[in-house]
Amino acid sequence: MLHLPTITSLSFIFNLLIGILFTSFYLHKKTTSFLLFGGACISFATAILLVSFKEELNLPWLTHYLANLFIILSPLLLVIGLNKFNNKAVINLTPLAYLYGLCALLLVFVYNHVLSQILTSFIVAILFLYGAFILLKTHCVAKLQQRLLIIGLVTHSLVMLGQVILLLLPFITSNNDDFKPQLHILLIAHLFITTLCALILPFIIFANSESKLINLANNDSLTQLLNRRGFFSTCKNIKANTADKNHTLALIMLDIDFFKRVNDKYGHDVGDQALKWIAQHISQLFMNIGITARIGGEEFAVLLNGYTLEQANTLAEQLSFNIRQQPFYCNDQSIPLSVSAGVSSTTINQLNLKELLLHADKHLYLAKETGRDKVVSQYDHTSSRKPTRPQYNT
Ligand code: GH3
Ligand code: MG
Ligand code: MG
Repeated sequence: MLHLPTITSLSFIFNLLIGILFTSFYLHKKTTSFLLFGGACISFATAILLVSFKEELNLPWLTHYLANLFIILSPLLLVIGLNKFNNKAVINLTPLAYLYGLCALLLVFVYNHVLSQILTSFIVAILFLYGAFILLKTHCVAKLQQRLLIIGLVTHSLVMLGQVILLLLPFITSNNDDFKPQLHILLIAHLFITTLCALILPFIIFANSESKLINLANNDSLTQLLNRRGFFSTCKNIKANTADKNHTLALIMLDIDFFKRVNDKYGHDVGDQALKWIAQHISQLFMNIGITARIGGEEFAVLLNGYTLEQANTLAEQLSFNIRQQPFYCNDQSIPLSVSAGVSSTTINQLNLKELLLHADKHLYLAKETGRDKVVSQYDHTSSRKPTRPQYNT
């Protein structure tokens, strides 16, 4: 089972294939980290190929020097790729470039000596630890695969350090054993773990890419709230996840009053800032208790699971009060904003999101019709509070 030529061949094939896979994704998506991961795998496959000709070719600069350079290049590209893959760069890459240059120089003098193996294994061990550290700091949705890869990289680093110690022992002690069987096992472990890491990596990358796409499709980039699509798909799960079918839920629909005037008077960019500002108020009040979304241009919705109509009405009044009380400032100007809200409610049993939205929309329409800057719910068709229209300096 631990037949070295078989493991070497398999490792070569897997690394080459995964390398080609990443490179072709790079050609399609132009994501630099894909190219770097592809380069890391192909580098390792190239190193295996060069080393395998050690016996046949008497060209040590090729089968030793160049092979060692490729062995170091592989984790180096992995580290750079992981650093790029992380949204915020974790480490400064310039010292790594110097380190690689220095290794290439040192190996020129020792490439035909055991010292080249010691140096290569030591640098590779450091780079794998670096890689594990970056991965630890990276947000990944595939948590299990992330942990497995971190364990793989740390184990790999330990294997390489073990190799360094075994290679150094004959120099340190007077013991002249060459530890061939132990080094053989470590070499197999090295090939095995590299291949395993190369196999896990695509899972992490593709899980993160998919999650990014879902996020883009479901979130509004301006306000960071859910968009209409995200709102519907998130709300869809409520019915399945709530055991008590008599449980009530309420929906608040909000629309900014006279928003067109804000755009016309202050410009579209200020309008965008105003939308963000309103969204912040909504987030502040509802983020931990409801599902918040921007479902249209200047329209928002909040679904409150477990809330009655009255409770939702009170919260909508609170939001409308907050917005009225704290003027929106932009370019040192105070711009009064207000919202109108329509509230509806139902039970899980009878939940039909489209209908619930339609009812809330009818109440919102009523709020607009009867003066704006007010909340209207099923039981509150005539508001007691006198609406105050926003005034604009002309
Ligand atoms: P009402 O009180 O009746 O709601 O009046 P309104 O002016 O708010 O309503 P109307 O539907 O006439 O106008 C909505 C405006 O919202 C029109 C559109 O220019 C603006 N709007 C929609 N989406 C955006 C956006 O993403 N950014 C900006 N700045 N404005 C937007
Ligand atoms: Mg509107
Ligand atoms: Mg409006």
